[in-house]
Amino acid sequence: MYRFHDIAGEDGIIAHMQNALRTGRLSHAYILNGSRGAGKRTLARTFAAAIECESPVEEDGLIEPCGLCRSCLQIQSGNQPDVQVWPREKPPRYSVKDIRSFRPDTAIRPYASPRKIYILEDAHNLGVQAQNALLKTLEEPPSYAVFLLLSESIDNFLPTVLSRCVVIQVRPVAETEAAAWLTENRQIPAPRARLLARFSGGSIGKALLLSEDEVFPEIREKTLALLRQIPDLDASALRRAAEDLSGQDRMEEVMDLILTWLRDVLVFKNTGTGRGLIFEEEVQYIRYIAERLSYAGAGRVLEAAETAARRRSAGVNSTLTMEMLLLSIRRACVRRKDAGN
Ligand SMILES: [Zn+2]
Repeated sequence: MYRFHDIAGEDGIIAHMQNALRTGRLSHAYILNGSRGAGKRTLARTFAAAIECESPVEEDGLIEPCGLCRSCLQIQSGNQPDVQVWPREKPPRYSVKDIRSFRPDTAIRPYASPRKIYILEDAHNLGVQAQNALLKTLEEPPSYAVFLLLSESIDNFLPTVLSRCVVIQVRPVAETEAAAWLTENRQIPAPRARLLARFSGGSIGKALLLSEDEVFPEIREKTLALLRQIPDLDASALRRAAEDLSGQDRMEEVMDLILTWLRDVLVFKNTGTGRGLIFEEEVQYIRYIAERLSYAGAGRVLEAAETAARRRSAGVNSTLTMEMLLLSIRRACVRRKDAGN
């Protein structure tokens, strides 16, 4: 069921949509622009549901789709004939032919609803030709047509298309707000909610995806197990760990985990307590590293992580990249037997 009340932290956008619903003055085209998982799809479907609902309800000052009428039920099952979701193919692609088909289609009045809504997902993939075809529809839209373009980058749009659209920036909710939301609404324990929120850049959609991801806890555990003992590992153990961690095609997450861990080490060094750690349950190991890693050493690890990120985007072998990063972390830590020196 789509409800504005269930959308966290997008008050500005919701206010904009509510105003359009209240006055009935809808634009013919909106671009909802924001990173993957920022909540664009939910916003678009909630907006569409509210526009098409047969008996919208007012709850605490927000107009909500009723969730019970024919249109609401059809939207929930993806079968509302007047709400079309494109592209129809997986992986998502647009052909110019698809876009050209909108023009004759918009000429047909809505089947049973007040408006005819086209939700175009991954609209940043629209090529120049496709956009020019879309422009023809946007220039003379029938009064009932509404286009909702969901995009991850505004840069790919032609200025002529942008000028016909209301651009709405969908920003991921701040991490703390997202973490609080996850605990309150999904009963996810606070430390785990903080980790999920942090890893998803505050995007609740991404955090929820991550919370259902079965591989992520495994990667997290493997990475933390390695970091617990990294000062004491020899080169061959590090190589094996690098092979293991880079073998799952989840390098970006491993690197993020390492950086989050490093952040915790620095928090511990500054405060001398486990308060505010993302990996709260790791406090004894974090302390172990904090005692061995100087600030200068932490700086070198950060540099090494930046180098690793550059190597990765340059396509350098990921096992080698990971191995070099792990070696530099170990090098930056004073080993236990040397700790007194
Ligand atoms: Zn309804």
